[in-house]
Amino acid sequence: MSDLQDAVSRRRTFAIIAHPDAGKTTLTEKLLLFGGAIQLAGAVKARGEQRRARSDWMKVERERGISVTASVMNFDYDDRTFNLVDTPGHEDFSEDTYRTLTAVDSAVMVIDAAKGIETQTRKLFEVCRLRDVPIITFVNKMDREARDPFELISEIEETLAIDVTPASWPIGSGRDFLGCYDLLRDQLILMDKRQGDVASQGVKCEGLDDPKLDELLPAHAVATLREEVEMARGLCPEFDLESYRAGHLTPVFFGSAINNFGVQELLKGLGELAPPPRPQPADGRMVEPDEPKVTGFVFKVQANMDPNHRDRIAFFRLCSGHFRRGVKLKHMRSGKLLAVNNAVLFLARDRELAEDAWPGDIIGIPNHGSLRIGDTLTEGEDLRFTGVPSFAPELLQRVRLDDPMRVKHLRKALEHFAEEGASQVFKPMLGSDWLVGVVGQLQFEVLAARIEAEYGIAARFETASVDAARWIECEDPVEMKRFVDSNRANLAEDHDGALVFLSRNTWHMNRTQEDFPKVQFLKTREQN
Ligand code: GDP
Repeated sequence: MSDLQDAVSRRRTFAIIAHPDAGKTTLTEKLLLFGGAIQLAGAVKARGEQRRARSDWMKVERERGISVTASVMNFDYDDRTFNLVDTPGHEDFSEDTYRTLTAVDSAVMVIDAAKGIETQTRKLFEVCRLRDVPIITFVNKMDREARDPFELISEIEETLAIDVTPASWPIGSGRDFLGCYDLLRDQLILMDKRQGDVASQGVKCEGLDDPKLDELLPAHAVATLREEVEMARGLCPEFDLESYRAGHLTPVFFGSAINNFGVQELLKGLGELAPPPRPQPADGRMVEPDEPKVTGFVFKVQANMDPNHRDRIAFFRLCSGHFRRGVKLKHMRSGKLLAVNNAVLFLARDRELAEDAWPGDIIGIPNHGSLRIGDTLTEGEDLRFTGVPSFAPELLQRVRLDDPMRVKHLRKALEHFAEEGASQVFKPMLGSDWLVGVVGQLQFEVLAARIEAEYGIAARFETASVDAARWIECEDPVEMKRFVDSNRANLAEDHDGALVFLSRNTWHMNRTQEDFPKVQFLKTREQN
């Protein structure tokens, strides 16, 4: 096996999806703890808070107690290298989340054992399903009053229409929760609750008949375990790797992230079951991860990760090849060559200059705005990755300035946020007021706060008489011209110069579509 093939086979790039409060942050900490990336749990939050304290625009975040920025954590466990891509948890940021999920090969779905499938879990699950992202389920908070595991399994099965099979089985619940029996390996590693944050090895039992079980656990707990496991094995489909990797079956691990229960099993499960980097669709062909030349795409752009720099970081998912520091990559949108000398690898403990990176890894490339979401970089080949979309915004507002002299600055700010993917900006063909489009109301508040903090401009968002935006395409140039000529008052350009139709209301949209049957009104646009 070549170094490249070896690196590919060991990589696991995944995201955690969860409804807020299900325990995503706690689980992330524990995964890093077992991965040896952090010594003390609590570090993720502490570091996050430090960052927040330094950064003004995140005030909104802090006040609302939500997390709007995504990050990437690289760590090792059991001869595997994991890239955990954090997804923003709030529903207002679904577009960002969607794009984050284009950069992973699998996902862990965290569910609160008392609450089951919640609205946001469901939405995120649907996004994964659109892309056939395989999902491992983690039922968290088993140390609290929890629902019956059989009931939880059938709820997942029914509400998400997916096959479900337990990969571990909980021993008791609430105060009597003692740990999880590993069904895939047919063994039990009993952890000591009191050891809290220390990643200890635990005591091991082999098989349900191991007499050690009777010594270690109370008699009624062993009896229930044996009975329930037998039932579960009879009722649930057997685990099938192919079916899981195709996104048709989810293995379920039970646990309590806060007590380290079930976390190690989950991590082992990810290492063994989750797919290594998948082939990625580009125009014309699939790109295999073990192709020797470097290719990849930008799925996220973020400013202000380091408040001392005004640079932006482009999050670049490597799809093929061995990346070495200094490699010259072709930026497909501009055709320019880019010598990548200062990319960073997001090691969970810290950020470090990326000397080497392999398919599945995510590196951060600092830039001054040249790299945008959806951009492809290659080691020469003319190729574009597809599938990183823009969605038509659901809410549109007009931006107003208190000081009209600052209009140029405002434009710069709006373009910057559009490139970051934080919002979309539309410049009407007639009139001078720019429109900003977002997918959730909260984003307007975040934007106004950032415009003030980063550009020193007081701007307000006001209702506009625009109800929807659609990208326009038409193969017939004569028809296109007729359309443009008769709709000038309702047309605008997005930040890439693509033509957009802005309708006043549903009736207006329907009427225009009827009048111009050859014109396509698109809800999504692939970047570039
Ligand atoms: P997130 O919003 O999904 O990131 O959730 P957090 O990880 O911040 O957890 C939400 C709350 O649930 C916090 O108060 C955690 O301490 C608590 N929590 C997380 N995991 C567990 C668990 O396994 N058991 C119990 N009892 N509480 C937990």
